[in-house]
Amino acid sequence: MAVQTVATTSDSTVDLGPAAALSCRECGHRVPLGPVFACEECFGPLEIAYDFSGYDTEELRRRIEAGPANIWRYAPLLPVPADVADKPNINPGWTKLVKADNLARELGVTGGLYVKDDSGNPTHSFKDRVVAQALEAARAFGFTTLSCSSTGNLAGAVGAAAARAGFRSCVFIPHDLEQGKVVMAAVYGGELVGIEGNYDDVNRFCSELIGDPAGEGWGFVNVNLRPYYAEGSKTLAYEICEQLGWRLPDQIVVPIASGSQLTKIDKGLQELIRLGLVEDKPYTIFGAQAEGCSPVSTAFKAGHDVVRPQKPDTIAKSLAIGNPADGPYVLDIARRTGGAVEDVTDPEIVDAIKLLARTEGIFAETAGGVTVGVTRKLLKEGVLDPAKTTVVLNTGDGLKTLDAVAGTGLTATIRPTLDSFREAGLA
Ligand SMILES: *Cc1c(COP(=O)(O)O)cnc(C)c1O
Repeated sequence: MAVQTVATTSDSTVDLGPAAALSCRECGHRVPLGPVFACEECFGPLEIAYDFSGYDTEELRRRIEAGPANIWRYAPLLPVPADVADKPNINPGWTKLVKADNLARELGVTGGLYVKDDSGNPTHSFKDRVVAQALEAARAFGFTTLSCSSTGNLAGAVGAAAARAGFRSCVFIPHDLEQGKVVMAAVYGGELVGIEGNYDDVNRFCSELIGDPAGEGWGFVNVNLRPYYAEGSKTLAYEICEQLGWRLPDQIVVPIASGSQLTKIDKGLQELIRLGLVEDKPYTIFGAQAEGCSPVSTAFKAGHDVVRPQKPDTIAKSLAIGNPADGPYVLDIARRTGGAVEDVTDPEIVDAIKLLARTEGIFAETAGGVTVGVTRKLLKEGVLDPAKTTVVLNTGDGLKTLDAVAGTGLTATIRPTLDSFREAGLA
């Protein structure tokens, strides 16, 4: 593999493994690796371009399989230096791919149903994957403060990663998030700022802060480090395929907030095909949203190419981005792969959380209720094929969104006597 050493804007050099440059998704314009996220030519989003020449497929497979049981086993495919696993980080990934036979029976899926359970990450959501990439980029570019705009989970992931790596952190969230998310973001000791507004207001504020002297030396994981951050989602695709025995699933159901995760899962699958690590066969990607924040599914159903912003109002707060940056790319991928984007109501989300818990013993946060609920709906509509291998993502832990299932509780309260137990009808 060619290891690239590239000049940054500050004239120092960075080693980010096989990452070769930043490339504009709209016009293809390439710039050297650096803390930039928008194309200077057309303002399109920049993403990482790789030099994957000279790989031997079997050698790469052996190297991955001999790697650590976390995302760094895929370091040769990520924008990070080869020695990344030796640095202090929280080592997310290699979460369970659960064969969900009980859920499959309940939903009538015969082709094999799996839940990729990312609640098992260090801060109990998929966000640890993306933050780990952004942290390495922040190190490479010499940032000392880690920051983000967050719908909740990202704030916790940044707080934890910064604490372990010895960075200062200062993160921004909508002021009215779930208590579980606030505590899980604050406990790591960094600064946590509530903004009076929704996520889109928080994000706009952070963009202003980047351009201001007050934000100098700050790495915003999902703004100026976004191209690196986004690559972390590829590891979900790598893990799913490796855990299936280096096979592509036929269908994947992915939640959509900004849409970044979905687009990078597609990128990861494409890379595995190109590198020969899986066979070249079709797969289908489905996107899942909450009805109360469904700008992408609304556009999909209307046959539109542009995504019209919405004002979010849903219990699925981790997915409540009304103006999703990657929305148009999600539409492209769903259409190209023969998939769809669908949404479910808040009661359907709660129902799906309980269904997954009851059948598989997995307690998902509301985002997991969205993917399971959408899976059920797409099966009913005949859009998802029950005879195909299907992977549903659970991206967060139900302990963070206890309010969603607040109606769930004691079956009965009894005196500590057998009579009382019998009276309650439980014998
Ligand atoms: C952030 C997040 C997502 C997906 O986010 P994208 O912005 O679409 O990449 C999914 N689930 C949970 C729980 C999240 O916190």
